[in-house]
Amino acid sequence: MRALAKIKARHLRQPLSRSEMMARIRSAETSPERAVRSSLHAAGKRFRKNARDLPGKPDVVNRSKGWAIFIHGCFWHSHRGCPLASSPKTNMGYWRPKLARNAELDAEAQERLRRAGYHVFVIWECETRDPEQLCNRIVEICDQID
Ligand SMILES: [Zn+2]
Repeated sequence: MRALAKIKARHLRQPLSRSEMMARIRSAETSPERAVRSSLHAAGKRFRKNARDLPGKPDVVNRSKGWAIFIHGCFWHSHRGCPLASSPKTNMGYWRPKLARNAELDAEAQERLRRAGYHVFVIWECETRDPEQLCNRIVEICDQID
């Protein structure tokens, strides 16, 4: 136990290499979910994340106020006209049906949520990359859920 603690401590004390550090910063800053959640917090919204029992498992939800937000990766959810969604050059026979199926499931889940009385929003990965753009999007959503 003590040996393990020592190993851990030594590991933690070791300075990160530049690339390790960059990778951490990048992954922390570019997590779309994290960016959206902290923006919503900043806007004073209360919510839960990952509502597993709701259709499509929205990433952010407020049941009592009746709103749900999906944070969608542009490639996986085929964001139309978005550079991040551009098809991979190889293996399209493999990807096309999968992406089409995702889009179908997304539409179904959103429809079911709407029928259950939810305001449903999608925030795209690309919208979370620029803080100003994300802020505008959050304000736009807040206007509709207040
Ligand atoms: Zn996009």
